[in-house]
Amino acid sequence: RIAYVNGRYLPHADASVHVEDRGFQFADGVYEVIAVYKDQLIDEKGHLDRLERSLAELRIAMPLARTALAQILRRMVRLNLVREGLVYMQVTRGVSPRDFPFPYAAMPTIVVTARNKAFPGREVKAATVITTPDQRWARRDIKSVALLPAALAKQKAREAGAFEAWQVDGDGFVTEGASSNAWIVTKENVIVTRAADHNILRGITRMAILDFARENGFKYEERAFSVEEAQNAREAFVSSASTFVMPIWKIDNVAISNGEMGPVAKTLRDAYFDAMDQLAND
Ligand code: PLP
Repeated sequence: RIAYVNGRYLPHADASVHVEDRGFQFADGVYEVIAVYKDQLIDEKGHLDRLERSLAELRIAMPLARTALAQILRRMVRLNLVREGLVYMQVTRGVSPRDFPFPYAAMPTIVVTARNKAFPGREVKAATVITTPDQRWARRDIKSVALLPAALAKQKAREAGAFEAWQVDGDGFVTEGASSNAWIVTKENVIVTRAADHNILRGITRMAILDFARENGFKYEERAFSVEEAQNAREAFVSSASTFVMPIWKIDNVAISNGEMGPVAKTLRDAYFDAMDQLAND
């Protein structure tokens, strides 16, 4: 395997960054994860747009022209023979003697890795979620590498045998999953997901799903929902670049279905796969 570090394509095992990289010392950096499906980068534009926005919010200069970055992503997919899998890219403020304020002269660090990973296909069994207090910072719209609360929540989910941990705010409303956006379908067949403000990450998959919902004539609302509302919903699912649309059948100890994918989740998951197949055939 090959990793990209600051202009160099290196054997994965030898790829590293400096001990005084601010990403390592302060989590002073941002990242993106892009799915590769049938050799294609999925929603590439949306991910690069969001990377630029995250960097701008942290006042880190975009280290490369966007076209150069796009070329690196493609080259990494090729070099690692990725047909189906994930590309990870991280940009930090760079290397500087450890001090809290921004350094005057640091070059951003860029790291890109890519790996094969087989995704579940169109037909998928529903998964489960637990809920946990949202202990993350107040700017969850920035895709920061400060992922400790998310890692703790995921570990809690794993220990409970669940797929994802839904983060719950101080008012009892679900913000999102540790690494996914959260959705329900009400008994009135309305799709609900939280509005994309500073409280959640504006998922690129989330935006695609809202388009598919419109195209399929579904009603939807962007608003907060409580754990209780979710446990009384007709369907639930999560979305992310690596899961697309993943149906959920159990929230904490409350089963909302028999474990099969619901019809709305199925329509949206199919729409996602149709769009990806279309991209590969173009
Ligand atoms: N919310 C959080 C906190 C995430 O970490 C992620 C992805 O990793 C998402 C939502 C989903 O975003 P996307 O669809 O862009 O992968």
